[in-house]
Amino acid sequence: MKIIRIDVFQVDLPLHEGRYSWAGGKSVDVFDSTVVRLVCDNGLTGHGEVCPLGPVYLPVFAAGVRAALAELAPALLGADPRGIDTVYLTMDQTLKGQPAAKSALDMACWDLLGQVTELPVHALLGGRFGESVSLYRAISQDRPEAMAARVAQYRAEGYRRFQLKVGGDPDEDIQRIEAAAAALTGGDILVADANTGWLPHQARRVVDAVRGLDVYIEQPCLGYEECLSVRRACARPFVLDEFIGDVESLLRAQRDGAMDAVNIKLSKVGGLTRARQLRDLCVSLGLAMTIEDSWGGDITTAAIAALAHSTPEAFRFTATDFNSYVTRSIAEGAPQRSEGTFAASRASGLGITPREDVLGEPVMRFRV
Ligand code: MG
Repeated sequence: MKIIRIDVFQVDLPLHEGRYSWAGGKSVDVFDSTVVRLVCDNGLTGHGEVCPLGPVYLPVFAAGVRAALAELAPALLGADPRGIDTVYLTMDQTLKGQPAAKSALDMACWDLLGQVTELPVHALLGGRFGESVSLYRAISQDRPEAMAARVAQYRAEGYRRFQLKVGGDPDEDIQRIEAAAAALTGGDILVADANTGWLPHQARRVVDAVRGLDVYIEQPCLGYEECLSVRRACARPFVLDEFIGDVESLLRAQRDGAMDAVNIKLSKVGGLTRARQLRDLCVSLGLAMTIEDSWGGDITTAAIAALAHSTPEAFRFTATDFNSYVTRSIAEGAPQRSEGTFAASRASGLGITPREDVLGEPVMRFRV
C-alpha cells in the first residue's frame, strides 16, 4: 500500500458566535483550516485537518502550515501509510519542527490505517472507554455579565464544563470568574484560562481573589517559571496548556509539581501519534487531560473524539467539539454533540466522508 497522491485544501470556517476572543485582545472571526487527502494505490483515501487558532496564539499560522506541507508532502509519496512511525520518522527527517503540519498528515495516516484494518481509530489507539466523552464549552472573552449569560445558555444546551477566556484586565477577570461561577450548579466544572495573558503579579491577584470559588486556573502566564511561581501561590487546581508541547516539557512540569491536569492539543504536539504518547504518559503519571486541538472542523473533531474516547475515563478532564462552533460542515459522519457529550465514530478509520463541494479544488497537489 503506497501513497500516490496528496491533495491539500483550504477551507474557511466562520463562527456561529461571529467572533472568538481571548487574552490580550486577540480574536478570530473566520478560521483558516487546511485539509489534507492522502490517495493510495489501492484506492483508499485518508484525511487530516489542521487549523491554528489564528496567527498569534501558538508559533504557527495557516499559510505557514501549507508551506510546511509543501515541504513534507513530496517526501511521503510512495510511503506506506500503515507504518505510522516510519511515516513520522520520514517527516522528521524532512523538516524540523512544524508539529501542526505533521499533525494533518499523521491524522490522515491513522484514518487510512483504520480503513485498511476495518477498525475505528479509537480502537487502534487503545479501545473505547465508556459510552460518551464530556465536553467543555469555551466562553469567548466578553464583559462579565455577557460571559455569565453564555455559560447559562450553553448549560441549557447540555454542557456542564466551561472554560472562561480570561487573561485580560485582572479586576475584570475576577468579575468574569465570579459571575460565571454564580451561573453554575453542583457538578459543573469551571476553568479560567488566561492563555498566558497575565503577568505574575496580576495572576497572583486573581488567584487570591477567587481562592474561595470552585475554579481551575489554566496557563496564567507566558513563561514556565512564571506559571510555576503562580502555581505555588495558588490554592486552586492548575492546568498547563501552551507550555506542554512534548515529552520533555510534560516531564519537567510533572517533576516540579507544576500542574494537576494538562491540555493536549493534537496540532500543538504533532498529531495523534505524539498525542497518544503524551496521553499514555499522563495516564502513567496520574494526570488528567483536556484532549482537543487549537481549532478545526469535522475532521479535527473526529480525531479528537478518537483519542478522547480511547482514554480511560478517570483521566479525561474534558474534550472539545469544534465542529459545533463553526457554521460550515466539511465532512459527513463526524461526532455530533448530544447533551454536552460526544462519542467517537464506530466506523472504520476516522469515520468521516469529506463534502467535496465544501472542500472545492485543492490548493496544492503532489503526485508520484
Ligand atoms: Mg488553554
